Amino acid sequence: MKALCWHGKHDIRCDTVPDPAIEHPRDAIVKISACAICGSDLHLFDGFIPGMKHGDIMGHEFMGEVMEVGKDNHALKPGDRVVVPFTIFCGECDQCRRGNFSVCERTNRNKETADKVFGHTTAGLFGYSHLTGGYPGGQAEYVRVPFADKTHIKVPEGLTDEQVLFLGDILPTGWQAAVQCEIEPTDTVAIWGAGPVGQMAIRSAVLLGARQVICIDHVPERLAMAREGGAVIIDFENESVVERLGELTGGKGPEKCIDAVGLEAHVMRSFDSFYDRAKQAVMAESDRPHVLREMMYVCRPAGILSVPGVYGGLVDKIPFGMAMNKGLTIRTGQTHVNRWTDDLLRRIQDGQIDPSFVITHTVPLEKGPGMYKTFRDKEDGCIKVVLKP
Ligand code: NAD
Ligand code: ZN
Ligand code: ZN
Repeated sequence: MKALCWHGKHDIRCDTVPDPAIEHPRDAIVKISACAICGSDLHLFDGFIPGMKHGDIMGHEFMGEVMEVGKDNHALKPGDRVVVPFTIFCGECDQCRRGNFSVCERTNRNKETADKVFGHTTAGLFGYSHLTGGYPGGQAEYVRVPFADKTHIKVPEGLTDEQVLFLGDILPTGWQAAVQCEIEPTDTVAIWGAGPVGQMAIRSAVLLGARQVICIDHVPERLAMAREGGAVIIDFENESVVERLGELTGGKGPEKCIDAVGLEAHVMRSFDSFYDRAKQAVMAESDRPHVLREMMYVCRPAGILSVPGVYGGLVDKIPFGMAMNKGLTIRTGQTHVNRWTDDLLRRIQDGQIDPSFVITHTVPLEKGPGMYKTFRDKEDGCIKVVLKP
């Protein structure tokens, strides 16, 4: 079959590889009808995440038709149409029983390596390095889904691929980011990043009843899409984020802040005269990560910082004393996808949200390698790429 494979930093190729086969009685083999490139794939593309090997199959946002199931998989049968969540979960361990699917204790088959690097294990993830199980991803014609009797979302009749594909990642990710903000009707929610995750977080914060949603980015098309979704926008290239957030909240600061940027936060901005020395010390001390420092600085005391943005390795020079003294709550993590998907599927069916609005590019799988750069560099108005094997 054809699959998009990692061959090193900035080197993704469409290779011919062996078809996957059932390896375990709970598995399923899924024929992919649509898959997407996620902002998290860009961290692999840019070489920020360790544990990748030559030839690893990329992709963790995908869906398709069940072709074959293992003998103990009684939840699925050939012909079923499924979206596959990016977090592989067993459904039975202590964390799964608490709904903490992204930290499932049983699905990461490289637990020892993960323990060494993270100090604990996380769930197995598709196409996301050997630290999270080294499971071949879904930017391919077929994929083996481990623990498939649990790790799936069945698609009801009458919905297109485009309407449900993002249930596997970015929609629940934006949703969880907003839910974890515990939004009150009087809240302002500020969201850094108008990429696909930021866009889903905006719609989620609006649906969850925030009084005001503000989005910060510098890409015109993305800011325009954010505004259409109901956000007040701040272009960090041309405005002082701190000053504008102050104006928009009567000097109080947003009660809730979401980092939908992650590792890309090293994109630097110039500091303006608004900052006094104390602020300079916090904001300018290191060149990264900018978004986390800015959020801690502007968030209203007793507020919540929600961080779906992906970080890897050491994140230093965070003004943690500021967060402590302001009494901020910080929430982060990979998304517990299936905790949210029944509710989100209902909202899609009800017409409350149609996540397909983010798609700007749909291309055949073979064109996938070139789309990584297009997506990362926001060329050609690119916001979200869907690949069709
Ligand atoms: P993306 O790269 O398309 O979007 C990031 C956006 O942030 C871009 O539009 C960029 O212009 C903007 N940005 C860069 N620096 C900024 C700054 N200093 N201030 C404000 N905006 C800035 O990616 P995406 O697909 O939207 O994903 C966003 C993040 O969410 C990534 O880190 C990704 O890995 C992460 N993610 C996490 C999960 C999870 O389970 N927690 C799931 C999916 C994605
Ligand atoms: Zn993702
Ligand atoms: Zn589990």
